[in-house]
Amino acid sequence: MDALDLSAIPVVDNHCHGLYAMQAATSAQAWRRHFTESGDAGMRDEHTATTLFYHRLLREMAAFLGCAADEASVVAARERRDARELIAALLRAARIETLLVDQGYPPRGLVMPDAEVAALAGCRVAPMLRLETLMQELIAAHNTLDAVEEALRVALADVRAAGYVALKSIAAYRTGLAIRVWDRHDAGASFMEARREVEQRGVLRLTHQPLLDTLLHVAFAEAARQEVPVQFHTGYGDTDADLLLANPLHLRAVLETRAYRGMPVVLLHECYPYTREGGYLAAVYENVYLDLSYGIPFLSYAEMLAFTRAALGVAPVSKLLYSSDGVGVPELHWSSAHTGRRVLGQVLGESVAYGDLSAADAEAAGRAILRENALRLYRL
Ligand SMILES: [Zn+2]
Repeated sequence: MDALDLSAIPVVDNHCHGLYAMQAATSAQAWRRHFTESGDAGMRDEHTATTLFYHRLLREMAAFLGCAADEASVVAARERRDARELIAALLRAARIETLLVDQGYPPRGLVMPDAEVAALAGCRVAPMLRLETLMQELIAAHNTLDAVEEALRVALADVRAAGYVALKSIAAYRTGLAIRVWDRHDAGASFMEARREVEQRGVLRLTHQPLLDTLLHVAFAEAARQEVPVQFHTGYGDTDADLLLANPLHLRAVLETRAYRGMPVVLLHECYPYTREGGYLAAVYENVYLDLSYGIPFLSYAEMLAFTRAALGVAPVSKLLYSSDGVGVPELHWSSAHTGRRVLGQVLGESVAYGDLSAADAEAAGRAILRENALRLYRL
């Protein structure tokens, strides 16, 4: 069956992260660490270079850089490029129309300013606000829970006017997606614990569930009122996330809350490995969307075909959104764009062969998933 050629369609990358201003990799090991979610040194040294993802990336990079397809040659050829030149070359080749950037990671001091990336890549760069980062700052700055809630309401009173196209939550990395309504006593006690952490350490890592959940409800109310999308990390991530609690089915209580129906919910990273669960939620809740990310998780081509089939198998086409989840190095944003188009083109080609879609429907689905759904959802 013939795959669709989607290579001419520009992508709106609806979830990615900033690029490091300094791109030099001091060694092959230093470069490899960008392609694993493991914090274990032995993984970088012994195992990461043996993933199917990494083998594919090396050959793609070798073709792009015009060098031999081994790790030492690719890293050496990459090192000969200036950071700005490397970013411009890769992102322009990826035909990116817009990057929606999660500003919560990497730290802003390490990343190239959005305006510079936009100029180098010839694309629009639109920021997204990470809720937990803002909450941590507000908890450190106010000494009652009421004051933090009020400050959060004020900070989120007009998200778009503040320059953001979406909100992002990493609750899955902290206390899980089973976000509850807590009584005031529990939320207050949790706030006092967080304040003690601020006093003792000078910084806060918000892992206090009654407090985090209570503040998330403030944010959801604002998002629903303004119809601003909220992206949730779901599924695959580093070991900070308990994968069991990162299953999107835990969001049921939030999704069943009538008052939040105006809040578009974007389930990130195809909820991997819970893609069918995410696709189901996108099929039954009007306000749920499923992100299909082709940079991270670090998967083989066959596994990307599998999750794309699973997502298209159950979710409406109008609920699917392309992304890279690229972080730090432009290889991820770039590789994702052309691999994502290829995978999607193949799965849509199959759907024509099976009789699910006409050729024209399949072409339209490719454009919708790669860019049009995101343009509409984020009001770009
Ligand atoms: Zn991300």
